Amino acid sequence: MEGEAGERVDLTLLRRHFGAAFLAVFLCAAALPLAAPPADAAPGVPRVSDIRAWTNEIYTRVAIDTGDEVSWQANTLRADPERRLPPRIFIDIRGAGIRDEILRKPVEVRNGLLRQVRAGRFDRDTVRVVIDLERESTYRVFALPGPFRIIVDIDGEGEIPVLPTSPEAVAPPGPVAAVPSPEDPAPPPVTPPVSPPTPSVGSAVPPATPAIPPSLESPRAAASHPAPTRKHRVRVMIDPGHGGKDPGAIGPTGLKEKDVVLAIGRKIREKLSGSGEFDVRMTRDEDVFIPLEERTAMANKGRADIFVSLHINASRNRSAEGFSTYVLSRGASNREDLELAARENGVPVRKLQGVKFIIDDMFTGARKNESLRLAKTVNDAVVRHVSTRYPGAQSLGLKQAPFYVLVGARMTAVLVEASFISNAREEARLRDPSCLDGIADGVVEAVRYYGQNGILAHSDY
Ligand SMILES: [Zn+2]
Repeated sequence: MEGEAGERVDLTLLRRHFGAAFLAVFLCAAALPLAAPPADAAPGVPRVSDIRAWTNEIYTRVAIDTGDEVSWQANTLRADPERRLPPRIFIDIRGAGIRDEILRKPVEVRNGLLRQVRAGRFDRDTVRVVIDLERESTYRVFALPGPFRIIVDIDGEGEIPVLPTSPEAVAPPGPVAAVPSPEDPAPPPVTPPVSPPTPSVGSAVPPATPAIPPSLESPRAAASHPAPTRKHRVRVMIDPGHGGKDPGAIGPTGLKEKDVVLAIGRKIREKLSGSGEFDVRMTRDEDVFIPLEERTAMANKGRADIFVSLHINASRNRSAEGFSTYVLSRGASNREDLELAARENGVPVRKLQGVKFIIDDMFTGARKNESLRLAKTVNDAVVRHVSTRYPGAQSLGLKQAPFYVLVGARMTAVLVEASFISNAREEARLRDPSCLDGIADGVVEAVRYYGQNGILAHSDY
């Protein structure tokens, strides 16, 4: 695994790394003349149109919707007892307006981790979103395109080092550290807007490293792990992809991915729930559209132990066939996997690289190993079960690609691409309930194996 040992980096250092990247962008941006401040209501000006939050006492995800791409910058402020201000995370969004309703109505939480999320105009050209914390917590901020939204993940569990004690630790050196709070009458920051770097695809796509450690080659390796004492039933979040306005891939005779994966998801829930051993939930149980970041947030908020996202593959090559199961990585090993991730993410391939740094940060160590293990077990079991009904079902194996729905997942998380709906023969299979049963049986067997062998990465909720 490329840099496996090195991925366990201290977050403070990582933030310094981010800081350096942002600074590099800043230096480029500084040479450009600043555009005139846009008027709020002007057409074409990005606007903070919604602020959404999913939360429990150890985890919160906040999504800030702007629709169009904006420049943004995140920073923290420590508690100020004299002014009765809690620790705060704030995000400055340049060149954007804000919907009036958001100005008037903070998102109240008050759950022990978060007090509220509020927003205001910091100056004519800057909207500031402030997250008031109950206590200092680690956090990560990244943006997803199509439509553009800024995601803040706040971790109150202490799995990673606590908030650095000085602003310098989270910010690039220079004037950024002196950014005043929105309550301050001080002048606005002089730092030009900065954005996360979005390298173009082609030159910047690192090769993925789909090889798994030798110890993971055989599922039997799991049996050697001591089973931790579990305090709850194993929680499984099944995520049927797409839905509503998003049909997913469509087969030659019109079969829609969104309908197939919902049917499979329901079968998995029914089969897994029977024993009472598993607490099974679904991100959707009807034909509705749910944004990708919300699906992850639902799994995190629900403290799922296992997240299984269900999809059906598609290709311009109508003869492409087979089953594959993915884990998150910042790159893909080939063009097909990159195009697949782009399609599942609802973005062009060139937009895929924006979150690569944050993926390195968030998906490290035990959870990635557990996910690799589960993905291999799932894929083997699905192919085996489908083969009993349709001999010759192909396995494309365990793979890695940058799927947004897996970014920020706090649990063992895999994404299944259960054959190709673009292949006429496989599409016909997907109309057969016994094929869907086979796929569901495979996932169920793998999840059972995983649960029974006590290799949960998070068994101490
Ligand atoms: Zn899909």
